[in-house]
Amino acid sequence: MEREIIVAGNWKMNKTIEESVTFIKELAPLIATSRASIFLAVPFTAIYAASKAAENSNIIIGGQNLHYESEGAFTGEISALMLLDAGAEFVIIGHSERRQIFKESDEFIHKKLVKALKDDLRPILCVGETLEEREAKETEVVLQRQLQKALKGVPIEDLEKIIIAYEPVWAIGTGKSATAEVAEKAHLFCREQVRDLTNKVIGEKIPVLYGGSVKGENAKQFIEQKNIDGVLVGGASLQIKSFAEIVDKCSSKI
Ligand code: PEP
Repeated sequence: MEREIIVAGNWKMNKTIEESVTFIKELAPLIATSRASIFLAVPFTAIYAASKAAENSNIIIGGQNLHYESEGAFTGEISALMLLDAGAEFVIIGHSERRQIFKESDEFIHKKLVKALKDDLRPILCVGETLEEREAKETEVVLQRQLQKALKGVPIEDLEKIIIAYEPVWAIGTGKSATAEVAEKAHLFCREQVRDLTNKVIGEKIPVLYGGSVKGENAKQFIEQKNIDGVLVGGASLQIKSFAEIVDKCSSKI
């Protein structure tokens, strides 16, 4: 089965409005012929301007987080409606920095996922083990728990809209990526988990991205794997040249 190929950038807490617009305008012509889906998760403040700058290009703009309530007394939070209103089409949920620094639990992440789906924001659900968990041979237990808790009770027709990102925490922002073999094994496991929670068709169809120190030089080794359908890129998505190179490498799979 042919799956969608996705290259997603996560800018984290980087770039002003002006920097975002300049980046998108310069990137757009470089990736115009790519058949991969290209996503950029920009800071909240830049979503509106970025989505305007991305009009008539194949770049899709999204957010990096949301709250599961529609509105109310949640100082500093952002709702799905606000993201949509600003022009976001997708949202990252459960990034390891949210899980670790901001102590987001599996239950909290599940609620956010349900909200994103309900309000028609395509979720990129991040899962992944820490170094201690990997060394204790708990990778699969962790992935199973994170996926089961996040996806529990989500209707089958909604599960089709989800993108999963396998991001081993020890590989994020460390410059130490997983080997292609390690990543492929984890991707296959994630796919099998989704299949067991849903059905064979969705298990086969769901895109699973790899994230963790992806660069132009190593993107090819990941995209060549059978169960890797693209990448989620942090650091290397901040430079036009490196992000365009990753898009180019990943497009070769289509
Ligand atoms: C990320 O933040 O999701 C990520 C994978 O970061 P980096 O590419 O910098 O490791």
